Amino acid sequence: MPQINAERLLNDLRKLRTFGAVDTGVVRPALSEADIESRQWLKARYEDAGLDGSIDGVANVFGRSRNDGPALIIGSHSDTQPRGGWLDGALGVIYGLEIARACAEDPTTAHLAVDAVSWQDEESNFIGCLGSRSWCGTLDPADEAAARGRDGTPLAEALRTCGLHDVPRQQIEDGRYVGYLEAHIEQGAYLEDAGEQIGVVTAIVGIRGMTITFDGEQNHAGTTARCRNRTLRGCPPDQRGVSQSRGRANRVDDRQRQHRTRRVIDRAGTRRNGLTVPRSG
Ligand SMILES: [Zn+2]
Repeated sequence: MPQINAERLLNDLRKLRTFGAVDTGVVRPALSEADIESRQWLKARYEDAGLDGSIDGVANVFGRSRNDGPALIIGSHSDTQPRGGWLDGALGVIYGLEIARACAEDPTTAHLAVDAVSWQDEESNFIGCLGSRSWCGTLDPADEAAARGRDGTPLAEALRTCGLHDVPRQQIEDGRYVGYLEAHIEQGAYLEDAGEQIGVVTAIVGIRGMTITFDGEQNHAGTTARCRNRTLRGCPPDQRGVSQSRGRANRVDDRQRQHRTRRVIDRAGTRRNGLTVPRSG
């Protein structure tokens, strides 16, 4: 039974934290200087562990076992939110490294293939899950061409700055993998409340952003009789959510009701929800 080396694991977690450390958190957004430095360090750690280390054209970092498959691939992301927690993503990345090391050190598992990985841009600086999508072959070229970082830098320019624009992108190798495992720090309180140290995820929140355009006539909130409310007219009862949104649009645009305008009223996920409420007549 392989045994992890807890001290080695913690040392690597703490070292990874030093790249972009700020107060109790970490500032290591995808393709930033700190992110790239941390990825070069991680590649070296993979190689120290006897894995074949590489950084591909979107800065995914791979530590590939030299054993033949079938293989497990284990990892997470090492980019962070603009100001992220030091274990968010990092925990799963270093777990992957440590599991690969522990399996290689135990005679009963040394023949098994465990690949380790750190995906790029899970935190949506440019495109959410840029690295894993690239690896899976689901990255839309149009999305990539339009992608900009939070500071407005185009993705292509950021990749060029990092010297990655001509580096090949790796893709999943057919037939090699039997599974992917990712450990992640809990970001709620379920385990803590239950007194548990670890759990298995069976469902995860889904976030979808969209732009919705409503056509109607704005008028003053509250004082407009329902019978005159053109935004609600003809709205079936089962579209209560739409009706509420229309009422919300009226509230937002009240301050500029003389103008045909586009108002951004909310944010969901990584995209804006926009409402267009033209004034007719
Ligand atoms: Zn995360």
